[in-house]
Amino acid sequence: MSTFQNCIDGAWVDAATGDTFTSTNPADTTDTIGTFPASGAADVDRAVAAARAALPDWRATPAPQRGTILRRIGDLLTERKAALAQAMTREMGKTVAETKGDVQEAIDTAYYAASETRRLFGHTVPSELPDKFNMAIRRPVGVCGIITAWNFPVAVPTWKIFPALAAGNTMVYKPSEESPHCGVLLVEILHDAGVPDGVINLVHGGGPAGQHLVAHDDVDAISFTGSSETGKAIGEVCGRTNKRVSLEMGGKNPMIVMDDADLDLALEGVLWGAFGTTGQRCTATSRLILHEAIHDTFVDMLTEAAQALTLGDGRTDGIDVGPLINEGALQKVQHYVAVGQEEGATLALGGSRVTGDGRDNGFFFAPTVFTDVTPAMTIAQEEIFGPVLSVFKVSSYEEAVDVANNTRYGLSSSIYTENVRHSFRAMHDLEAGITYVNGPTIGAEAHMPFGGVKETGNGHRDGGWTVFDFFTEWKTVYVDFSGELQKAQMDNVDD
Ligand code: NAD
Repeated sequence: MSTFQNCIDGAWVDAATGDTFTSTNPADTTDTIGTFPASGAADVDRAVAAARAALPDWRATPAPQRGTILRRIGDLLTERKAALAQAMTREMGKTVAETKGDVQEAIDTAYYAASETRRLFGHTVPSELPDKFNMAIRRPVGVCGIITAWNFPVAVPTWKIFPALAAGNTMVYKPSEESPHCGVLLVEILHDAGVPDGVINLVHGGGPAGQHLVAHDDVDAISFTGSSETGKAIGEVCGRTNKRVSLEMGGKNPMIVMDDADLDLALEGVLWGAFGTTGQRCTATSRLILHEAIHDTFVDMLTEAAQALTLGDGRTDGIDVGPLINEGALQKVQHYVAVGQEEGATLALGGSRVTGDGRDNGFFFAPTVFTDVTPAMTIAQEEIFGPVLSVFKVSSYEEAVDVANNTRYGLSSSIYTENVRHSFRAMHDLEAGITYVNGPTIGAEAHMPFGGVKETGNGHRDGGWTVFDFFTEWKTVYVDFSGELQKAQMDNVDD
């Protein structure tokens, strides 16, 4: 069995206690990937100290030079894309086509962040006094804690790590305990590309390692992606310790299909949105809102097509849907299927674990469709994070929007319609950070802001130009070249 380590100040090391945990393949639990350090406070302390020590030099490195390293990271990700995708699928299950897309997003993010190092624009603004120059410039925030989920094990950490590097921050990265090998492979690439020792430190482990990082006095900011429950707990600690915090959390994303929609296009979209990554995406389509005029036809099309999806090891050609991540996820999905039935929804497809044909040691679950779902039902409200789609029937655009907005989450949303008025109204009416018109609820691009409203987010965005506002502090600078003491609000105003 392979043994993997933390990376602190450029050195690969075990946890101080020597404790470890194991990562296994969710498609075949007899396939063990390796052991990883179960880190505790002492390991986090060492990693934070290394990041703090590396900060002055990295901050002082001209941003375009940091950009050169980011471009090399993009090049190495490109070279290793195929091998990385295989390793990712082995560890977290989604198909290789999807893990290749995950790596591509990281590549795009690397080149985008590299290009931003030649911008990182500030502002110059006229002064209210003569012979005085006003400007606002960006400075790095400092030492950042990066805590991420496992479902986009390369793309999501890079949404945070690359802009943080571009802006001159140092960091401690704690990947999910479900995808630690992906974390190792990513940090190896960063070092091979020339990121100096101590600028990025890797600490493995679960919730306790994350908790130490969040509570640490010498960490300036936390950027988190994960569940709303964990995010809220992190937000509380960051509030008490006065840390800047970005929270990207759960979703319960609606797709509306109107009576004038292109149904074949909508069908392709919902299959990809609901069952891609086995429904384990923050942006997964988990609620399908159908206009009554096309409801029955579309449900027939959907159940027939979803039934034909092939489940298996995502590294095998022809597989559409991989496994759930672990036993707990399997139990959680089974629980929600039972609750859906108890509360009166109709199980139109799936609803059970899939075994046989080499799938006995994996966490496979059939694509599942519930019809006759009403907004008050548990399966209409809670994030299931599995291949379970709830279908609602509505009689108007207004009712569709009411159902779509009837959730505590607000990440992604979608409407299929040929009606330009409904398209443009939906952009404003849907309470979500992202709206797709005639596309499913997934498909983020690296150079666009990504994040949500309500219980999905806390006002920040990963991705795009907006993430640089999180990873930089504004410094306001006044230069008085008048040679005199000039008093703002006094010398320039007549009483
Ligand atoms: P999770 O909240 O269980 O874990 C996320 C990370 O937080 C892991 O690294 C975990 O070890 C760490 N953690 C757990 N408890 C902690 C604590 N008390 N303090 C600090 N760190 C702690 O989430 P998960 O099961 O890994 O991922 C699934 C969730 O992530 C879903 O809700 C999904 O919607 C969400 N997600 C959101 C986005 C987004 O950008 N909005 C993207 C991907 C996933």
